[in-house]
Amino acid sequence: MSVSEAVTSLIRELVDANHILFDQSVVDGFGHVSARHPERPDRFLLARSMAPALVTEKDVLEFDLDGNPVIPGGPAPYLERFIHGEIYRKRPDVMSVVHSHSPSVVPFSVVPGIKLQPVCHMCGFLSAKGTPIFEIRDFAGPGSDLLITSGKLGAALADSLGEGSAVLMRGHGSTVVASTLRQAVFRAVYTEVGARLQMEAMRLGPVTFLTEEETVGTTKTISAQYDRSWFLWLKAARNSPMSQ
Ligand code: MN
Repeated sequence: MSVSEAVTSLIRELVDANHILFDQSVVDGFGHVSARHPERPDRFLLARSMAPALVTEKDVLEFDLDGNPVIPGGPAPYLERFIHGEIYRKRPDVMSVVHSHSPSVVPFSVVPGIKLQPVCHMCGFLSAKGTPIFEIRDFAGPGSDLLITSGKLGAALADSLGEGSAVLMRGHGSTVVASTLRQAVFRAVYTEVGARLQMEAMRLGPVTFLTEEETVGTTKTISAQYDRSWFLWLKAARNSPMSQ
């Protein structure tokens, strides 16, 4: 079976995305990034279960939206692959998903009454109303491992995301979505940056957040600029000692 140039080049870019997300401290040994299959909208591409910094092209697997590998009997997949499939199922506009435990975001998932909101123009993709928080206890009971290990939990997370670009997962991490892989990487990095900036600002006093209108304006302008940070981050990742 021959693989088209579109798929080959997307797999290459997905490998780069894995390395960038590690180099930018969004993922560590855990976390994952996927892309919807360019020719089969009912499938997505995601590495086998491994540290993102070590992913190569041969580690990328194809899954159906139920989270089953298209070629059975292969290497172990990520336990939380259901995050990806269920979001692609619910959101036809989403072409890429990043799930991470990026550390500055987690505090916003565990303090009632405090919401992650956009503090600066680079974070205009975050909701001005506050980023939704997925409470897994509502679906998995009081004693779960907090992971999205089934289609049922993935679908509940996708519901919590709604039409937004980010959802926090209580005591766990976050998931961001976008209409391209590069945009998803950008959003994952700036969700972490935005959380850090918001915490810094809150230490100083009451915070002025972006308005709904400002989130629209900033997102429109930045949407022509993702390649600028992508190629910078790619060079940094390739020059990192991890790539040697
Ligand atoms: Mn996780």
